[in-house]
Amino acid sequence: MTEILRNALSLSPLAITVVTLAVLIVLVLAILLARADRRFWAERRLLDAFMENIPENVYFKDLESRFVRVSMKMAKYFGLEDAAHMVGKTDVDFFSVEHAAPALADEQEIIRTGQPLLGKEEEETWEDGRRAWVLTNKVPFRDRNGQIIGTMGISHDITERRLAEIALAQKAGELERAIVVLEQLAKAAEAASRAKGEFLANMSHEIRTPLNGVIGMTELALETELTREQREYLETVRYSAEALLSVINDILDFSKIEAGKVELEVVDFDLREVLENVLKTLALRADEKGLELLCDVNPDVPELFRGDPNRLRQIVVNLLGNAIKFTHKGEVALKVEIVGSNDSRLKLQFVVSDTGIGIPKEKLESVFESFSQADTSTTREFGGTGLGLTISRRLVEIMGGRIWVESEIGKGSAFHFTVELEHGEQMAAKNTAPAHHGVLSGTRVLVVDDNRTNRRILEGLLNNWGMKPFLASDGQSALAALHAARESGDPFQLILTDMHMPGMDGFGLIEQVKNESSLSTAAIMMLTSGGHRTDATRCEQLGVAAYLLKPVRRAELREAVERALGAIADAQEEKLAAERPRQERRGVSSALSVLLAEDNDVNQKLATRLLEKRGHRVVVAGNGRQALEALSHAEFDLVLMDVQMPEMDGLAATTALRAGEKATGKHIPVIAMTALVMQGDRERCLAAGMDGYLTKPIRPRALDEVLDMYVEQKQQADRVSESDTKLSAQPSASGDLPPVDGNELLDRVGGDREFLTELVTLFREDSPKQIGKIKTALENKDAGEVLRAAHSLRGSLANLAARPAADIAASIENAGQSANLAQAEIALHSLEREMTRVLDALGALCGEAIS
Ligand code: ADP
Repeated sequence: MTEILRNALSLSPLAITVVTLAVLIVLVLAILLARADRRFWAERRLLDAFMENIPENVYFKDLESRFVRVSMKMAKYFGLEDAAHMVGKTDVDFFSVEHAAPALADEQEIIRTGQPLLGKEEEETWEDGRRAWVLTNKVPFRDRNGQIIGTMGISHDITERRLAEIALAQKAGELERAIVVLEQLAKAAEAASRAKGEFLANMSHEIRTPLNGVIGMTELALETELTREQREYLETVRYSAEALLSVINDILDFSKIEAGKVELEVVDFDLREVLENVLKTLALRADEKGLELLCDVNPDVPELFRGDPNRLRQIVVNLLGNAIKFTHKGEVALKVEIVGSNDSRLKLQFVVSDTGIGIPKEKLESVFESFSQADTSTTREFGGTGLGLTISRRLVEIMGGRIWVESEIGKGSAFHFTVELEHGEQMAAKNTAPAHHGVLSGTRVLVVDDNRTNRRILEGLLNNWGMKPFLASDGQSALAALHAARESGDPFQLILTDMHMPGMDGFGLIEQVKNESSLSTAAIMMLTSGGHRTDATRCEQLGVAAYLLKPVRRAELREAVERALGAIADAQEEKLAAERPRQERRGVSSALSVLLAEDNDVNQKLATRLLEKRGHRVVVAGNGRQALEALSHAEFDLVLMDVQMPEMDGLAATTALRAGEKATGKHIPVIAMTALVMQGDRERCLAAGMDGYLTKPIRPRALDEVLDMYVEQKQQADRVSESDTKLSAQPSASGDLPPVDGNELLDRVGGDREFLTELVTLFREDSPKQIGKIKTALENKDAGEVLRAAHSLRGSLANLAARPAADIAASIENAGQSANLAQAEIALHSLEREMTRVLDALGALCGEAIS
């Protein structure tokens, strides 16, 4: 080709070579340029595409923070359609100076130091006042030579997140304020609840005090001669006042439960004993209505449990009370059985069933709601607040159980409830001890009762004791059974008959038996729900061995059966169950000198009358100060002290009295009389040095129990002092009984003074331990241990001729025997005081002996 070109252009070969080279170079350059241009445009397209589409605010700025280029997203963010419109502008053109200035300063700093600024949150305030937040990263913008020629950055809009955070912070603030308000409210509620508690206590006091007057005065009036009409009116007054009192108790109890203030006691108790006591108290009411009251505790149910017997009693009383209230004829029965157990607890199910009016289906649940009654029209007829079942339900729930009812209108109701109770501590010993049935074992008993349930219960009990019961449902079949037994040569040794039976009643049956001498070999026992005096007399005339009020307690029945069968040797002890009136038992020496501290006129009158009627002498003080004055002038056997009194209350007066007694070594028993029934009241009274506690309205029966105890103590002291006067050649100068009979003691040790000192030293070490044992036993409510500890201390005291102290120890022993721990506690106080006298006297005696 070069040849052709050379020929055609007639050029020299050199020129042609140069031209060719030049063309080649141009071509190469053109190719290179074209390539560079393509790359430039390709990169430019990349940047454009990036800046066009990236959904972030991306920008480049020059050294004066003027925008050089921004992403489309950023232009839009700034409210512009075209990114080119941002070029040459600065932040000041868009934002308030407050926002623009710091941003500008940041960028100048980057330019100065070459350091990037990463992760900075910036708040933007737009010209129209709108606020926004961005998270930005800014870095220096350098040219090819590394020279900083501006800044570039990327910022991400975090306005939504920040707004959410601000809202959250606001909410948190609101919450904090709400918490502060709530705390204030809680404090106010607590104060209100305290105020409510105080109000309840006061209200209870204010209502109980006049009610005390009403009930007490009515009881006094009922003891006077009255016409039948007057008696009826007064009985209605008493009944209404009692009803009012029970309403107040219910309301008080309900509000305590609602306020969560109920704390369950945890003590060992004998379930059967608790239930039997409940039934005893309700027996009269059931009998007045002609209802059979039955109790059937399954033999597997152990005797001792650990829990709150009083709350359990409250539930059972409530259900049985309702059952009696809503039943006109038939029977009310309590059944108890075990329905489950784990290691330490037993689940018991109680069923109280009746043959009463029943409850409509739609009300079966609502009767447990407060103030709710199945049929409000019945309220007039039956009375009641509608709180009993609510209280019972709450109590059952607190005891880990549930309560429900099944009922059919006109047929009756069955209230079921379960509770979980721990085993009682001595249960193993008490329940697994082999039964010694002695004379009972194998004895044939004829049970005569028209009530099937009652027959079954008696059968179960008698079988348990190893006896052989035969059941008869009326007098005629009983007679037939007696004849058959005699003919078979295996006669009955005991007849256990009900009194009220259709056709031939219990008396009729006994008369027939007595008329046929061949039948009258068996001992006869009568069960009755009546308790009329004439019944007792008639039983006595008919030679009935025992006469027991239904529902009869297991232990009582067993004892009576054993007695009737001659198992108990002391035949003189064999007496009918009907109790002699209290007054008859009192001799002349039983009068106590009582100081009554009470501010309320009516209560003063009432208590004075009650005490005087019982033959005691009364001095009245209107407040604590007057009581102390009276005590400083005269001797009293007992102080009955109202707690709330003007000027000086009962607690302050007792504290002052006890402080004064420290010097004299005396101790006058003080019994609180108070309408306060809130938790801790009893403890406060005892802490002030009081010996016991009676709640108002004062019940004659409760008062009698206290009075009886002090009368007994006084009589015992009198007896000892009498015998001591006879025995002791030198009664103490003051006429007081000496704590230790020195002559007798010296006589006992055969005049061996060294031995006496040894004995006394031993006693000094030992006696506090023995007292400590009684105290511990009392704390553990262990009556058996109280008995044992008191017995051993009594022995030591008697050995040392410390008769008054030994007598007090004996009274503790007796209290332990009858499980009357309250009495034991009071006696222990006296014993401790007497012990100081005893130790002093012994010390003196040893001193004398040594010298
Ligand atoms: P109260 O008896 O004081 O009215 P309770 O809470 O003890 O209150 O009982 C609520 C209601 O349940 C009673 O008014 C009565 O309508 C119904 N009730 C409770 N026990 C029985 C029962 N054994 N037979 C029929 N109705 C009953």
